[in-house]
Amino acid sequence: MTGRRSLRPARPLEVVVVGAGLGGLSAAAHLSKAGHNVTVVERDAIPGGRAGMIVEQGFRLDNGPTVLTMPNLLADAFAAAGADMADFITIDKVDPMYRACYADGSTLFVRHGREAMTQEIREFANAKEAEAFGRFCDWLEQLYRVEMAHFIDANFDSPLDLVKPWRAGLELVKLGGFGKLGKKVASFFDDERLQRIFSFQSMYAGLAPYEALSLYAVITYMDSVEGVFVPRGGMHAMATGLAAAVEKAGVAIRYDSPVTRILRDGSGAVTGVELGGDELGGGERIAADAVVCNADLPVAYRTLLGGVDAPRVARRGKYSPSCLLWVAGVRGLPPADAAHHNIHFGHDWDGSFKALIHDGVRMPDPSILVTLHSLDDASLAPEGCSSIYVLEPTPNLDGKIDWVAERERIMGSLRARVAQLGYPTDVVVERVYDPLDWEALGMERGTPFALAHTFLQTGPFRPNNVDRRVPGLVFTGSSTLPGVGVPMVLVSGKLAAQRVDEYARERR
Ligand SMILES: Cc1cc2nc3c(=O)[nH]c(=O)nc-3n(C[C@H](O)[C@H](O)[C@H](O)COP(=O)(O)OP(=O)(O)OC[C@H]3O[C@@H](n4cnc5c(N)ncnc54)[C@H](O)[C@@H]3O)c2cc1C
Repeated sequence: MTGRRSLRPARPLEVVVVGAGLGGLSAAAHLSKAGHNVTVVERDAIPGGRAGMIVEQGFRLDNGPTVLTMPNLLADAFAAAGADMADFITIDKVDPMYRACYADGSTLFVRHGREAMTQEIREFANAKEAEAFGRFCDWLEQLYRVEMAHFIDANFDSPLDLVKPWRAGLELVKLGGFGKLGKKVASFFDDERLQRIFSFQSMYAGLAPYEALSLYAVITYMDSVEGVFVPRGGMHAMATGLAAAVEKAGVAIRYDSPVTRILRDGSGAVTGVELGGDELGGGERIAADAVVCNADLPVAYRTLLGGVDAPRVARRGKYSPSCLLWVAGVRGLPPADAAHHNIHFGHDWDGSFKALIHDGVRMPDPSILVTLHSLDDASLAPEGCSSIYVLEPTPNLDGKIDWVAERERIMGSLRARVAQLGYPTDVVVERVYDPLDWEALGMERGTPFALAHTFLQTGPFRPNNVDRRVPGLVFTGSSTLPGVGVPMVLVSGKLAAQRVDEYARERR
């Protein structure tokens, strides 16, 4: 076990964390390290939020993230709780990381490690493209180094903070970070199939490669260079493991406890939270000096902070596309050449993004992700059976699809496609989530991927994790800094804990 409680604040605060998602748990870990007394209050019966799991009829089905990158950031959260991640969960490499199946019938296996991937590209395309991969990785590495320290792992108080690390900013300009991602990737690779596999990650940021800034290639770095991993027992094990570690560090977690109100005094400062009750109050109250809120930020402003408007960007901003997710426990095994993650690209590329992001309609020829968790982990499905996870990106609820009317038809065509691709589809257990379901689960505009990472919705322009109108309130999670995805929300927990420390110092 690593040492803990290195940084005791002058006066430990009573802190309530609303939500045991990965952002909330990471905040709890870092807050406990700083010596605060922490209670996490979670509405559900299990931790993890979006990184959830369905346990039924011998299946253990992940229904959230499937691609774990940068496990060192997860290890940092465990370390903040005074724990060694290896004592709680085992993380394995996924190799091949992806099987990319193109509409022309060709297949590329994205391999762990530069050497293996260079060899793969040499065989898939040619020596020139393989050599370009080396240069591409060098560029990504430089980009990551500049961005992580100065622009991702950082709190912002004003847009000026963006230009303060001017040397880093200059380096970003030199690296071409402010050009368009699609063009930049095409400057390395002639083969359009390689351009796709090294730029599709902009979708994780809610953007098309042709509109995303090159600086978002850091996501490609985290994925294609640092590699993709999976915890044994499924992705949800990240949350159960981290919850166990923070509890061991003295954090109390209360499940099945929805917060209905964040309480404030006459000056607007937080005084605690209320559970249950109605709009007139009457529920149980937990007093707190500071509240860290992991609930989706725009929804939290609307439902927990009556009378305080969410920042304009959260109300008027551009939200990422959503997804139609089908998770199932099925009889039968996947085809022999299937990998853990399988991307089936449609014919069209720019046109698909245009449909999804700009026209708000279903991709005419959808690209889908099929994840087979049980392929590498027999504990997730009974013998002779498989877990199957199919994700089709769709517009969010700002788009034009009427999900009540269209859901069955769209799901029908998705099932048919998955069967036609050779995957087993004899369902034992299943769940389907469309944008209306994500909305019902508390996600703004029915997307689990929060505000898109356009430049003007990133860094100091994203809804901040503190609000001057509500002293003592700090946000964590994908709708605040630094952004969406497991690595980012883990960092957001650390940044939130720093904000609580700042508040503790101000109150001294
Ligand atoms: C289908 C899908 C696929 C994804 N794929 C990937 C991927 O492959 N890789 C990746 O890195 N990321 C992926 N993501 C994104 C990633 O899962 C999220 O960015 C991240 O998990 C969000 O964590 P969070 O802590 O911000 O929010 P959440 O996980 O939503 O946590 C918020 C918590 O707050 C609780 N809560 C809300 N309101 C209240 C209340 N009033 N009282 C008490 N508790 C409350 C919720 O129950 C929840 O536990 C995916 C997400 C989904 C849904």
